[in-house]
Amino acid sequence: MPELKKLTFENLAHLMERCGLLSRDQLRDVLVRGKAQEARLFSGRHVGATRRTGTGSELSSPAEILSSLHSEIKGTQGILLTEDIITEALASATGLPYFKIDPLKLDLHVVTDHIPRPFALKNMIVAVEESNGVITVAVADPFNEALVSELALARRLEIKRVLSSKSDILKILREFYGFRASVVAAEAEASTSIDLGNLEQFFKLKGHQELEGTDTHVVSAVEFLLNYAFDQHASDIHIEPKRETSLIRFRIDGVIHNIHVIPKPLHAPIVSRIKLLSRMDLAEKRRPQDGRIKTNFNNKDIELRVSTVPVAFGEKVVIRVFDPDILLQDLDSMGFYPRELALYNSFLRRPNGIILVTGPTGSGKTTTLYSSLRSLSSPEINIVTVEDPIEMVMEEFNQIGVQQGIGVSFDSILRNILRQDPDIIMIGEIRDRATAESAVQAALTGHLVLSTLHTNDSAATIIRLLDLGVPPFLISATLLGVVAQRLVRKICPQCKKSRILTADESAYLQLPDAPHVVWEGEGCKECRGTGYRGRSGLFEVLDMNDRLKALVAGSVDLAAIVEAARQEGLVSLREIAISKMLEGVTTYEEVISMTG
Ligand SMILES: [Zn+2]
Repeated sequence: MPELKKLTFENLAHLMERCGLLSRDQLRDVLVRGKAQEARLFSGRHVGATRRTGTGSELSSPAEILSSLHSEIKGTQGILLTEDIITEALASATGLPYFKIDPLKLDLHVVTDHIPRPFALKNMIVAVEESNGVITVAVADPFNEALVSELALARRLEIKRVLSSKSDILKILREFYGFRASVVAAEAEASTSIDLGNLEQFFKLKGHQELEGTDTHVVSAVEFLLNYAFDQHASDIHIEPKRETSLIRFRIDGVIHNIHVIPKPLHAPIVSRIKLLSRMDLAEKRRPQDGRIKTNFNNKDIELRVSTVPVAFGEKVVIRVFDPDILLQDLDSMGFYPRELALYNSFLRRPNGIILVTGPTGSGKTTTLYSSLRSLSSPEINIVTVEDPIEMVMEEFNQIGVQQGIGVSFDSILRNILRQDPDIIMIGEIRDRATAESAVQAALTGHLVLSTLHTNDSAATIIRLLDLGVPPFLISATLLGVVAQRLVRKICPQCKKSRILTADESAYLQLPDAPHVVWEGEGCKECRGTGYRGRSGLFEVLDMNDRLKALVAGSVDLAAIVEAARQEGLVSLREIAISKMLEGVTTYEEVISMTG
């Protein structure tokens, strides 16, 4: 193997062929297409001559160009040669350890304290770990040894090099240095103008008029934080004041991760900025408030629902991120089994009646409702939603927010909107008798009504309606069907391994015909060591057919309803969860934690 001395596109392509990732024919093809790509980028550089950094660092690297050609790995069907795989191969050829950067595991101080930003950006390097005085520096070019020794000498550091992809390094440089710069500047500003210990005074001195105009560093710190959360697909952002610090945490796939610890004096300005963006009352700090922010990330609108609550050491902020890609899905990609999906679609096609979606908080009910409405929406259909609060603002629906404080309740809105001639009505949640009655009234007068209820399974929903005072004959006259749903975490495809269910586990799930093969994730870089990536819905669908209608109209008995529903083909959430486990979608542990 000829010695590799310089990182050029040509060298890299040949290396891929030598390690067996590309065939000879592929190599020839890649060389031709890569050269053309390089030439295009090169001419692009001259056109956009006024580049901000003035260095070539942000131009595509050989590995980026190679991965942009979307070549298949030799002998595979459809597995692409990605920048990560190329980098891993390059690492092994040059003897450097390969390092997949996990932004959630990086420490802001380690990243930003040792290497000045311009130097890092110019040379595409980033400090990723520090232990016992040794700094681990990720580099994109394995042949920049001299440069790193220079840095070690100049800053009196002991440096160990590892190889990472340029895209990963650049992402960290942008996110961390930006955030760091904002925090440092804001800290400096806060400490020169006020007594750090006295945040009350801070606000008295500055007032919110001034806060708005001057704290540009706080503004950019918040912006970086939000973008970072979107990039990590966080569903919630928590900003929690502690005695000495403020803790920033993200929820990703249902699990909370600690992200940053920021100095306490910055907590209040950051909270103020968020409150300002969500149009809350800045002066009000003793009562909980709600607001929303509409923003844009990677050319898609993202809606944030913000709430503040006073806690012992200040105001705690929780931001829920409503990503339209998650909130609006195709019904057939949400995890329904074919039988359940067909039933549910048959409910949606009915001209009038009530469809209920049930499950605990966080089980994805809103996603199901919004996605259903989206599938029904067309210019000639008038869809009205009544929500508390409006989860996500969507142009094709007429959405009305409940405001209990001023007497605008679910049932008062419902009475009014019936005059506005809606075809389909979505009620955020049926919580009380008046709302239940309005829903029934709407269904009886020819509307399709979709709503949610807080119950555990589909049959229990009927009992809950009775408890809310809906007479049995009206339930059987209006209810089309009930969907009970849950979310389970999906096994990470990258580190999925099979095992045999133990005899005890099989017995616990009452599974006959042991042994059974199940799967679980061992934990890898892609899933941050959790073994899970993304979530899948489980849907139990109860069809209110004639037999059930007759049963409900008589004397209602839960056991009899369940029995009849089972005979009519109802598959329970537990059975659906077990099927998903046996199919390798989720784990035994998820089934247990979901079914209790
Ligand atoms: Zn994994």
